[in-house]
Amino acid sequence: MSLKPRAAAPAPTDLLGINHMLDDEEKAIRSTVRKWVEEKITPHAGQWFEDGVFPEDIIPELGEMGLLGMHLEGYDCAGMSATNYGLACLELEAGDSGLRSFVSVQGSLAMFPIWAYGSEEQKQRWLPEMAAGRAIGCFGLTEPDHGSDPGNMSTRAVKDGSDWVINGAKMWITNGPIADVAVVWASTEEGVRGFVVPTDTKGFTANEIKHKGSLRMSKTGELVFDNMRLPEDAVLPEVTGLKGPLSCLSEARFGILFGALGAGRSCFETALDYSKSRVQFGRPIGGFQLTQQKLTNMAMDLAKGELLAMHLGRLKDSDRGLAPEQVSFGKLNNVRVAIDAARTSRTILGGNGISHEYPIMRHSANLESVLTYEGTEEVHTLVIGQLLTGQNAFS
Ligand code: FAD
Repeated sequence: MSLKPRAAAPAPTDLLGINHMLDDEEKAIRSTVRKWVEEKITPHAGQWFEDGVFPEDIIPELGEMGLLGMHLEGYDCAGMSATNYGLACLELEAGDSGLRSFVSVQGSLAMFPIWAYGSEEQKQRWLPEMAAGRAIGCFGLTEPDHGSDPGNMSTRAVKDGSDWVINGAKMWITNGPIADVAVVWASTEEGVRGFVVPTDTKGFTANEIKHKGSLRMSKTGELVFDNMRLPEDAVLPEVTGLKGPLSCLSEARFGILFGALGAGRSCFETALDYSKSRVQFGRPIGGFQLTQQKLTNMAMDLAKGELLAMHLGRLKDSDRGLAPEQVSFGKLNNVRVAIDAARTSRTILGGNGISHEYPIMRHSANLESVLTYEGTEEVHTLVIGQLLTGQNAFS
């Protein structure tokens, strides 16, 4: 063994030198998306959040960058690795969780089921349009009375001749009010089936959910199906049962376990900058031990979260793949890390921390939704608990 020179000091947002684990393509994707977010999103996100606006004019740019369905192969999708997808999600969510939610829903919840379970016709009809951002998708699983327990869903699809007729409602559907196509999950005599529903179908209505205190830079809706009649070929032919929607959620959760760290990093960077310039008692508050403790804990937790995300990304890209419990581990841990970073960063900014002049309160409010959607904190805890004990504590 030869004596190595002392390694260079790591960057504050990369204490573990994770940057050096990335290959050239990963570095390029990360820096391209980061630069785009800093130019196009960060300067306006606070205002968009306050106004409850999702900037639809950026959607074609997301398509041009290959970020829509980026981990899918064929049909004009970019066919990138899962790790690349995760890194892009991290940078998008550093802008706003609403932006990452749009990309997650489009790629993992709307395109993925068509790609994985759709007929060739469904794939040809929708995937290239969705990859380009010319068609927007949404995913309808949650209902007003059935969230964590989708197996008990009330939305029902029945056969009438060769048609399907669907009645029911879905709640909290990201992109619902702006979608061109909805992947709707309904119970049938054969079990849960997925349907590809153009949103101009008679009997389909999307109502925007207003007055949200979180994910305001994202369109959320209620979908109502009133004797909605669909042709036989609207069903996703290759999947029956809850494993269909659950596999889509596993894909989207993988994006979240990277993405949430972007929101956390944005809060940490804001607090670190602020701690250097804000003077109290005659010195920058970053010179006080208690502030340094907060910054140190945040930097360590974010770095460990990123290490975990990279590890899970590498596993997903390997032949071995990722088990759902491992995705739960990542989502549970990294959303907690991000929420803690948002709350701690807010304290470092004192009163200024609650102002939308800074991104922290916005990220903090957004992360409350991120903690709940795609499986709540409690649900992911029980998924891991069941693996550990062999006992089902859900019901
Ligand atoms: P509930 O299931 O009623 O849960 C309430 C509380 O009870 C939670 O704390 C939960 O963890 C706890 N709980 C429930 N069951 C158990 C149990 N067995 N043991 C212990 N605790 C339990 N859904 C979609 O289908 N598509 C979307 O695009 C979408 N986008 C969303 C966007 C936003 C902004 C939000 C807020 C939600 C979105 N959702 C979407 C819905 C989201 O996935 C659900 O809110 C989530 O699954 C929780 O369901 P619920 O709100 O009905 O809560």
